[in-house]
Amino acid sequence: MQFLYEPLPYRIIFGAGSIDQVPAEVERVGKRALVLSTAEQGADARRLRESLGELGVGLFDQAVMHVPAPTVDAAISLARQLDADCTVALGGGSTTGLAKALSLKIGLPSVVIPTTYAGSEVTPIWGMTENGVKTTGRDRRVLPATVIYDPNLTLSLPPALSVASGLNAIAHCMEGLYAVDGNPIVSVMAEEGIRTLARSLPVIREHPQDRAARGEALYGCWLAGMVLGAASVALHHKLCHTLGGTFDMPHAETHTAVLPHAIAYNAPAAPEAMARAKRALGGEDPAAALYDLAKSLGAEMSLAKLGMPEDGIGRAAELAVRNPYPNPRPITKEGIVRLLTRAHAGLRPVPVMEAA
Ligand code: NAD
Repeated sequence: MQFLYEPLPYRIIFGAGSIDQVPAEVERVGKRALVLSTAEQGADARRLRESLGELGVGLFDQAVMHVPAPTVDAAISLARQLDADCTVALGGGSTTGLAKALSLKIGLPSVVIPTTYAGSEVTPIWGMTENGVKTTGRDRRVLPATVIYDPNLTLSLPPALSVASGLNAIAHCMEGLYAVDGNPIVSVMAEEGIRTLARSLPVIREHPQDRAARGEALYGCWLAGMVLGAASVALHHKLCHTLGGTFDMPHAETHTAVLPHAIAYNAPAAPEAMARAKRALGGEDPAAALYDLAKSLGAEMSLAKLGMPEDGIGRAAELAVRNPYPNPRPITKEGIVRLLTRAHAGLRPVPVMEAA
């Protein structure tokens, strides 16, 4: 066994009601916090700011998807005007992304309170969009000083969104199991992430207010975020990125439809990963189990129905082989065409027998 393990400096507070710990966590890093949120979560953020008393010097409730540069500039200008020395981000990946941008650009430490399953709060990955072009990078300085996971705050996350982003989190875990730079700790987190999400998402779909299932799903998504932050992605994520960019397809839904097929493709070349996935998902074939799970959660499994044209299969396969990257099984154009043809039609994945 050989591996490199380089843990990131995290401080994680997890549990129902842990939002009460925000003031104490702010005091660890600053005295004048700027609270961040989207407009949709502005009322919750205002209450949070009030609960901070003198520690909460202002609210910026204009966070939006993909961290546009003008939004970052507006938040920086308000932070300077208020002489803020830290941020408190309440929300999903979009709000966390803004906090990360402020850490990167003006060095403000953050306390992040995630309310979705995106997992951004535990990755060193930042992104910013300028003139329609998104730039991303990795930098430890964007990691929050503290992450506070309070499952009560996720009770309002609509079931369809919960399921889509929970399945997306499973995809991070699946690829973490066979990542070229994975390690035994990443594998343990990934297996546990898959198990807890596969168990909790069906409950959430039926009973969105089930607190135990919400807690379990948030725990699973924390693990998935840790996996995403620690290990590289492979065929599945690269394919989804290509499909999203080329055919303007919805992010989480595309992940859901592609994942079983990407796993079927890689399975023969990743036996240890599949053994862990089997333990986490049950059954004999992880690819089929993922397909059945997604179907049972009401997910759309046909890329055609998600907007991919049929003549796009060849084009996407062409793009998939253009820039090589590490993947357990060599990527061939014919193999990707077979994979995409089944995913396009929404068919169950078929086991691939050969390892290359
Ligand atoms: P989001 O943050 O854009 O939130 C979507 C909507 O849901 C917003 O209107 C938000 O206010 C609302 N919302 C959030 N929590 C809610 C709740 N509990 N109840 C009701 N409504 C709620 O969505 P997201 O999926 O969390 O984040 C997506 C963004 O995160 C993308 O831009 C993606 O690129 C980024 N992301 C980054 C990383 C990373 O490591 N840097 C990882 C994952 C995602």
